[in-house]
Amino acid sequence: KEYTKEEILKLAEANDVRYVRLQFTDLLGIVKNVEIPVDQLPKALDNRIMFDGSSIQGFVRIEESDMYLAPDRSTWLVFPWDTPQGRVARLICDVNLPDGTPFAGDPRSVLKRVCEKARAMGFSAFNVGPEPEFFLFKLDENGKPTLDLNDEGGYFDWAPVDLGENCRRDIVLALEQMGFEIEASHHEVAPGQHEIDFRYAEAVEAADNLTTFRLVVKSVAREHGLHATFMPKPLYGINGSGMHTHLSLFRDGQNAFYDPEGEMGLSETALQFVAGLLEHARAFTAICNPLVNSYKRLVPGYEAPSYIAWSGKNRSPLVRVPAARGMSTRVEVRSPDPSCNPYLAIASLLAAGLDGIERELEPPPPVNRNIYMMTEAEKEEAGIRSLPSNLNEALDALVRDGVIMDALGDHVLLHFIEAKRIEWNMFRTQVTEWEREQYFSIY
Ligand code: GLU
Ligand code: MG
Ligand code: MG
Repeated sequence: KEYTKEEILKLAEANDVRYVRLQFTDLLGIVKNVEIPVDQLPKALDNRIMFDGSSIQGFVRIEESDMYLAPDRSTWLVFPWDTPQGRVARLICDVNLPDGTPFAGDPRSVLKRVCEKARAMGFSAFNVGPEPEFFLFKLDENGKPTLDLNDEGGYFDWAPVDLGENCRRDIVLALEQMGFEIEASHHEVAPGQHEIDFRYAEAVEAADNLTTFRLVVKSVAREHGLHATFMPKPLYGINGSGMHTHLSLFRDGQNAFYDPEGEMGLSETALQFVAGLLEHARAFTAICNPLVNSYKRLVPGYEAPSYIAWSGKNRSPLVRVPAARGMSTRVEVRSPDPSCNPYLAIASLLAAGLDGIERELEPPPPVNRNIYMMTEAEKEEAGIRSLPSNLNEALDALVRDGVIMDALGDHVLLHFIEAKRIEWNMFRTQVTEWEREQYFSIY
């Protein structure tokens, strides 16, 4: 709900709010905030709270660093927990330049711009439903995370095997108190691994929700003596954590992906959207799988995709069309992982799909068999390419893709590429334990 300034001031008083966090995210999707005492709230609601952008990752140089926070009044939320100083509320903000225009390096404004494009193409809504997975590890007596998983459970296991159950239930409770509608919550395939699915929302709200979700999961886990991590592949040899992302477009209140007469019950628009996703998959991988570590998840054998294909039946490809039709018709992209910047990831997925619609691309035939069982020759014949196998390859694909580059805009693109090439080079020159084990004695 979009509150007025007066309504928010009233709500703050009625809820005895003492501090307000003005929240935004940096280039890498890390949540930043400026905390103000509640008497500064009127000033904040007039977009007059300033901060120094030069100290935020990927924002700006020192000489152009004054940034203003513009709270989105529909994001007002009082945190359900009390602090000794009283209650705390938050507002998610856009970042503006001193002249009041959106700052090009603000990921939220990047997503808003791509959504604007969808609107200009006649779509009234772009809905996004993410399925984030995470691991719970034990903390040691000094409160430091260990590599000990907190349970030995497996997919949909039941207590007492699933010791994460209580923690996960408290996470769900906290999320519900914050207005999340939780659709499912279960133990995942790997020990210590969990998934919580919340209801889809329009793109910007979905991305906002993901940032809140990650904060809540981490804080509640800590209260249980656990460390929650969204690192895509924390342990070798078991499943990593993905964030399947369900996408659908609406036109005049109708699901634009549904056509009862169409092939597989899908509209032309849906097929073109899928074609766009496949066309730009190698480039958006850099954004949806932004860590060196992300690529250790995208390998065969752990339920994560590594080939570019789609299917209505098989669960292994990059893009899957779940069985639901009518208003619930949607496509599921299975490659993103929960370490991504949700604003940029959703923006790049939408840009890819919209390009497919604009250029009326046709998807290749769906692949309804297990790609991992196909020979190289069969894959070649079916035109199945693979996802980038490391961050560097993904960055190379990104800088060759005009559509995804355009969607991100020059500012974000430049800073992102720069930060990620440094990350890659640091990793590339490390000497690992694995290498010493393999080579040290023999050579
Ligand atoms: N953990 C799997 C991945 O890395 C996904 C498992 C599933 O939910 O199907 O993507
Ligand atoms: Mg899952
Ligand atoms: Mg899924």
